[in-house]
Amino acid sequence: MKRMYISEIKPSSKQVLVKGWVQRIKLLGKIAFVVLRDSTGILQCIAKKNIKEFSNITQESVVEIKGIVKKSKQAKKGHELEISDLKVINKSKAPLPADVEKSKTFIDKRLDYRFLDLRRPEIQAIFKIQSEIANSFREFFYKKGFTEIQPPSIISSSSEGGTELFPVKYFEKKAFLAQSPQLYKQMLTSSLERVFMITPVWRAEKHNTPRHLNESRQMDIEVAFANQFEVMKELEEAVKYIVKKVLEKCKSELELLNLKLKIPKAVYLSYEQAIKKVNGKLGEDFTPKQEKKLCEMYPDTIVFTHSWPVALKPFYIMPKDENIKSKISEGFDALFNGMEISSGGQRIHIPKLLIEMLKLKKLNPKNFTDYVNSFEYGSPYHAGWSIGLERFTMTLLKLNNIRECTFFPRDRTRLTP
Ligand code: ATP
Ligand code: MG
Repeated sequence: MKRMYISEIKPSSKQVLVKGWVQRIKLLGKIAFVVLRDSTGILQCIAKKNIKEFSNITQESVVEIKGIVKKSKQAKKGHELEISDLKVINKSKAPLPADVEKSKTFIDKRLDYRFLDLRRPEIQAIFKIQSEIANSFREFFYKKGFTEIQPPSIISSSSEGGTELFPVKYFEKKAFLAQSPQLYKQMLTSSLERVFMITPVWRAEKHNTPRHLNESRQMDIEVAFANQFEVMKELEEAVKYIVKKVLEKCKSELELLNLKLKIPKAVYLSYEQAIKKVNGKLGEDFTPKQEKKLCEMYPDTIVFTHSWPVALKPFYIMPKDENIKSKISEGFDALFNGMEISSGGQRIHIPKLLIEMLKLKKLNPKNFTDYVNSFEYGSPYHAGWSIGLERFTMTLLKLNNIRECTFFPRDRTRLTP
């Protein structure tokens, strides 16, 4: 008999074979109740024969059940499975180290036992939605004719300047884990023109916050012959498409998480307008509080802040009018549900300007020779952005900690599991 997933079972299914985990088991007089769970749902099963065999089955044991689907008034779904045969495939140790049924346990303990934590349908729901986010991101840019690229994760020098890197011993040389695919995606605009990628990045930042990881995944695009406004529009459309797809495909997951999503609107403000709106100081970055405040002014909206000061953006962001003396850049951020989800902008494609900017940012152009050279032989102007997969999942699902939507987080203190 072929195994059926619980979600495939209908009241008319009759004889079925199901496999999964014993979420709960109770013996009541001459009847045994088993709540069986697989990755698709939950099924109430009852046994009226050989009840003794059930008494030593532990919670979370893996079992295989054959039975007959029957209508039932008590069962939530209106049907249950009457067990004719139950085989224990792997008995679970008892007691469980963490509560599987409810979220009574604190996040640290839950993460220590992530494999168990993920047995809870509402935790699975977060990751099923995240999977849909990544899938619809891909779909959106495939449909537009972009090419998916695979940048390297081991790099020879800093791609951004600024953030700390994790060193790696690379034979005789010193190398680093990539903090971003920035330089590679830029180089590829001079051949493939429109590229996208989902790739892990590592940042050795020592802070330990609810919205930062030391290893995260980024969804990036880079587009030849585009400016900051053109790629901001791409981001707006991509986010709208992703939310639309999540709404269509993850109905039961959203219900489990008690979430009502809306396809977001978008608003475009200059950095100057935006910082004034939250009484911030011109020339300074938004504090997390100010980001939150700005988002609260525009509920269910992606808030774009464009034309940032050169001083607050990385060296590779184009100054306005390709003028090194300009204080305004072609760089932007996007905020959503309280915090930054993406940064991007038009890049510098002119080697001379790039060297000047590196110097202005007190970086050594010698460390960027390959990068600068790649723009010497016919590089178009280009723009792009990066949106954090976990960060976006966190904001979309209004989670209070980015670790909630990271399978196995790497943070300042956590390296296992
Ligand atoms: P933040 O200001 O939130 O620390 P950032 O400006 O340093 O972010 P960028 O270099 O702009 O980050 O990275 C692009 C995107 O990647 C961010 O908008 C965010 O969605 C995500 N991201 C950046 N750093 C992290 C991190 N440490 N953990 C998880 N996601 C991150
Ligand atoms: Mg940023």
